[in-house]
Amino acid sequence: MLELTPHGLHLPAAALWLDAARAPGRVFVSHAHGDHATASPAVLCTPETAAIGARRGLRPGDVRTQPYGDWHPHGDAEVMLVSAGHTLGSAMLLAREARGTVLYTGDFKRRPNPFAPTAVVPTCDVLVTECTFGHPRYRFPPDAETIERLVAFCRDALADGGVPVVCAYPFGKGQEALHHLMAAGFDVAVHGQIAAMTEAHEALGARFPEAGRWQRYARGTVAGHVLLTTPASRRSPMVTTLPRRRVCLLTGWALHPGARNLYRDCDAVLPLSDHADFDELVATVRESGARTVFTVHGDAGFAGHLRGLGIDATHLAAHPNAAPDAVQLGLGL
Ligand SMILES: [Zn+2]
Repeated sequence: MLELTPHGLHLPAAALWLDAARAPGRVFVSHAHGDHATASPAVLCTPETAAIGARRGLRPGDVRTQPYGDWHPHGDAEVMLVSAGHTLGSAMLLAREARGTVLYTGDFKRRPNPFAPTAVVPTCDVLVTECTFGHPRYRFPPDAETIERLVAFCRDALADGGVPVVCAYPFGKGQEALHHLMAAGFDVAVHGQIAAMTEAHEALGARFPEAGRWQRYARGTVAGHVLLTTPASRRSPMVTTLPRRRVCLLTGWALHPGARNLYRDCDAVLPLSDHADFDELVATVRESGARTVFTVHGDAGFAGHLRGLGIDATHLAAHPNAAPDAVQLGLGL
């Protein structure tokens, strides 16, 4: 039902490659983050991922879009896309063929996302799951608690006459952070890359809370505002020339044992993530009812943990799109 090819994971019955960087056929692109981009001209994705991808410079080609929730024929199989809760338009793929069902999660989280339906995991025979945070050290506190800490951080910085600088990845996390900051009543100056993706959200019908306002960053616009910017830009003059800046990075890697040293240029690192944490990953595997589990994109030890629970699990370290930890740490996932 599933094979690992030099181009990555392949569903032969549906003739689909899964998040393959390049492949000699149609590639399912689970969402519009750069580490899931493909050079293949034939793509399957949600309409939202196609729209975001077009704005992110993905090459237009044979893009077949499919909304959440309906079965569509693909080769000798049928395929349904369901929300992965990771970003606007992110999808899990469920394939049904004569021999059974395969679920590929892509990146996902089970906690609410203001811009995506909460992920509900379908049952399947074979599960392929990401495991970015597949180590027991990654148990995120409730998002409400983390957002409360973020709001308090920004209020304290402004009360001290400083500029709160919040760093988040441009697509997905950036808009989630903006949503929570505006709901708390902050006016937010937004880095151009995050602003472009925010406009893409609005063009797709997403709405932001009206208690606060956002504007695209321009020099001189940050007074009295929260500056929402990318993780990399915290080392750029845009941030480093700000007097009395207070920098907060949003990343699940906040719980990494090396986080204090790795992010020593930040005043705070808060574990707001758009990925499942360890407990969500285990719950997802159990709820899927899968007889066979493959893990990709993350901690190889997670498959061993699952085997300890009596589950037939194997880590596919050779997955070509699997990003090394160091890269993920840099991305601030
Ligand atoms: Zn992602």
